[in-house]
Amino acid sequence: MSQQQWTAVDEYFSEVLIGPDEALESALAAADAAGLPHINVAPNQGKLLQLLARTQGARRILEVGTLGGYSAIWLARALPAGGRLITLEIDPAHAAVATANLAHAGLADSVEVRVGPAADSLRQLAEDGAEPFDLVFIDADKPSNPLYFEWAVKLTRPGSLIVVDNVVRGGAVGDADSTDPSVVAVRRMHDLIAAEPRVTATSVQTVGTKGYDGFTLIRVEG
Ligand code: SAM
Repeated sequence: MSQQQWTAVDEYFSEVLIGPDEALESALAAADAAGLPHINVAPNQGKLLQLLARTQGARRILEVGTLGGYSAIWLARALPAGGRLITLEIDPAHAAVATANLAHAGLADSVEVRVGPAADSLRQLAEDGAEPFDLVFIDADKPSNPLYFEWAVKLTRPGSLIVVDNVVRGGAVGDADSTDPSVVAVRRMHDLIAAEPRVTATSVQTVGTKGYDGFTLIRVEG
């Protein structure tokens, strides 16, 4: 099986199940024009996030890693009236593109882009006594995933869902001897998940336009 085949299948699913979407397409075009890297989720992955948020009945969503706001648009569209998405981004240029894209998608009132290191923003949310989030999507600097997982557990409630992207890393996650900081961190995060009695989780491998990777899904139980 080849990347070409995975891409063709993703394109087929996106065409038949998603179709054209002006706001999403223009968000990608604006991100491209601004020179942002092409590391947003794929359309079918964005829709998966949206379906999870809707299934979850999420009124409050937290995203770690905004980029140009592509996944934020998918997630924010799942919110009911009065719902809120807070998305955390370290790079002001990325945040500016995301803010414009979210406004263009008609989501400016339901989404807040917080600029700064996510570790600081997460601590601030806890200090401010933020209401628990119903869904957290972790998709920023991978070496910080253990920290983001720990904050996500603190900032959620029993029944909340935490989704972590890019946990397979082309299969490298299976290598216990890897010295790649992202792989080491993803493995460390899984150790923390396994040792955390308040959560239950599974990880799934995926292939598609984004290559060979995967998600971890974590349900907060108590
Ligand atoms: N979720 C986005 C999407 O699918 O459209 C993609 C996010 S991209 C993979 C990761 C983003 O995390 C980048 O925009 C990067 O600037 C941001 N980032 C990296 N380190 C960060 C940190 N320490 N705090 C907050 N954001 C960070």
